Amino acid sequence: MTAAIANATAGLILCVLCVLCVDVDGAPESTGGAIFGFTARSAARQRSLERRFLTLPSPQKARAAHAFLTAEPHVAGSPRDRVLAEWVRDRWREYGLEHVEIVEHEVLLPYATDVEVQMVAPGSWRASLKEDAVAGDPFSTRDVGVAYHAYSASGDVTAPVVYAGSGNPADYDWLAERGVDIKGKIALVRYSVPYSYRGFKALTAEQRGAAGILIYSDPADDGFKKGKTYPDGPWGPESHIQRGGVVYDFRVPGDPLTPGWASTPGARRIPRADAASLPKIMSAPLSWRDARVLLEAMRGPEAPGSWQGGLPFTYHAGGGPPTVHMRVQMDDKVRPIWTVTARLTGTTYPDDLVIVGNHRDAWVYGGVDPSSGTASMMELARSLGALARQGARPKRTIVFANWDAEEFTLTSSTEWGEQHAADLREHAVAYLNVDSSASGINFGSAAVPSLNRLVTDAADAVIDPDSGLSIAAAHRRGSHDGGALPGGTGSDLVNNRLGSGSDYTVFLNFLGVPIVDMSFTGPYGVYHSMYDNHTWMTKFGDPKFLYHAAMTRLWGVMALRLANADVVPLDYRGYADRLLEFVKETIARARSADRAMFTPLEAASDRFAGAARAAAARTDTVLAAQIADVRASRTLDVALMRAERALLDRDGVPGRPWYRHVIYAPKPTYAPEVLPGVAEAIDAGDRTRLADQVRRLTAALDRASAILRAAATR
Ligand SMILES: [Zn+2]
Repeated sequence: MTAAIANATAGLILCVLCVLCVDVDGAPESTGGAIFGFTARSAARQRSLERRFLTLPSPQKARAAHAFLTAEPHVAGSPRDRVLAEWVRDRWREYGLEHVEIVEHEVLLPYATDVEVQMVAPGSWRASLKEDAVAGDPFSTRDVGVAYHAYSASGDVTAPVVYAGSGNPADYDWLAERGVDIKGKIALVRYSVPYSYRGFKALTAEQRGAAGILIYSDPADDGFKKGKTYPDGPWGPESHIQRGGVVYDFRVPGDPLTPGWASTPGARRIPRADAASLPKIMSAPLSWRDARVLLEAMRGPEAPGSWQGGLPFTYHAGGGPPTVHMRVQMDDKVRPIWTVTARLTGTTYPDDLVIVGNHRDAWVYGGVDPSSGTASMMELARSLGALARQGARPKRTIVFANWDAEEFTLTSSTEWGEQHAADLREHAVAYLNVDSSASGINFGSAAVPSLNRLVTDAADAVIDPDSGLSIAAAHRRGSHDGGALPGGTGSDLVNNRLGSGSDYTVFLNFLGVPIVDMSFTGPYGVYHSMYDNHTWMTKFGDPKFLYHAAMTRLWGVMALRLANADVVPLDYRGYADRLLEFVKETIARARSADRAMFTPLEAASDRFAGAARAAAARTDTVLAAQIADVRASRTLDVALMRAERALLDRDGVPGRPWYRHVIYAPKPTYAPEVLPGVAEAIDAGDRTRLADQVRRLTAALDRASAILRAAATR
């Protein structure tokens, strides 16, 4: 998925002049000096290792991997998906990775057997639900089957259509105020940019009593209103369709029938009817070419300005004609999916796990999403494998994971994370996620604040192929988008407001593992369509595959620093700063009569900041020695890893116990929500729940503080 990042920068201007000034080794020239987490002596050794590493990733090899990965459609659970899993496994063995295996999970993974959208009055017309072949793109000539929404309900209804804008609750309120009733009708809504998760649109329509929902791509959002369309430009052409899941994984991701535990053989499965994440509404995606026929036939109140799109007529809310027959038939099958995992076993702390992951399954060919990320990951595995063969093994174990069925409901990462929960909670240092590595040249990252420094420093150590500056410097200069970025401090590089939409979710929200998610993005209007393929990538996304290799370098530098540091490079001072900000804005949302309830939380935040400073000071002392004291650094390691785990609440966010992190949870839109338990209690106006959630958050912070404080004073 990862449309959140993709669309955040979509619309920015693609730099026309790609200046190729990457050094031979892909590192900026001034790369001396200290590295956070390392003594001076280890830092020198690490710099020299990184110089070797940075020469290894190859744009040509990334291109070749990408061409193979995207040669055929490879939706999760398909024969081609299996072929690619075996290909990844075999390559990883060849590269010298260890414990390479394919882990199978059997999960509810329905495919559509039939989708029909027909206008029955006025006149008769049938939506194509297919994309056209375009000149110069051999991939587009293939029949890739009917487009559908994963986990749509099956059904058959004939009803009037109502245009409901972006399909948010306020949009239905607007309709209701004008007497347009949605009950029993079919909602037509648009994919909105900035991104709002399609599952939220489905849930909202379901809650408002709609009988079905059609979600279409308006040209104002990702088509001709943005710029030239494919094959002449990167934006979506008239027939492009955004497939995707509509599952309610903001309640619980992973196999809907095993919520909170792994779909291993013989695992208990709940009845479908009890699955909180399964929609009860039919949903289907449309191109604007198909949606146009319906929109043009609509009458009723004129839609508000913000609902008007890029088509050359006034949009109306409808509610009377046209009448549409909508039918969706899903096969409701349980299918096997395949996670490929491997390791480079650490020499000093083999139990400590630095995990790198990317998903393999694609809606169709997966040019950007996810095969760009998979190609970058193959280069990462090859490069780190080569170093290990030369004797440069990591101190901590690096785990490689190639996920499956991410597009359905973050499925294989969730099942694998649930399966290995005890080990991961004990030993995981961090999880570094790359879903789509390159749809353009603008770097974007999201992370827990304890990793800000690692991300920023790594982005300082790797060259941006376009500008020849470091990735961090290019980002600060904002040279790529022509717009000014606020501030210019390191933290601007990293977004600390984490929502959902990719495979890091189980690590952060269920396991309490620090995470990073990153991507290079650009104008990209073919997300989840058949045009997201190798031809699109070579024409627009990353024609020379330089950003694929840059992502490998960045990813590798981060993994190597986490794996080799004398003290794991997690800095909780940044966390404390962000937390104070989150607490302040949350209190501001509360009723003034309730604000006194937050006093203990504010005090706990201050204690957390103090403990973070103490741990950082202790780390500095340990690292100031010629050789780090092993016992002292180990004590810090364990504490720094456990502090994030302490931010989990056993009972989770009320109503969605799987989401255990007290600082982060996704909203149903996938947008980030901070201090979710407290924030939702405020929104619900529930004073008792608010008091309980403040108490739980305070307790979690105090647990984390105690861990950091103990390590600092030992
Ligand atoms: Zn993806």
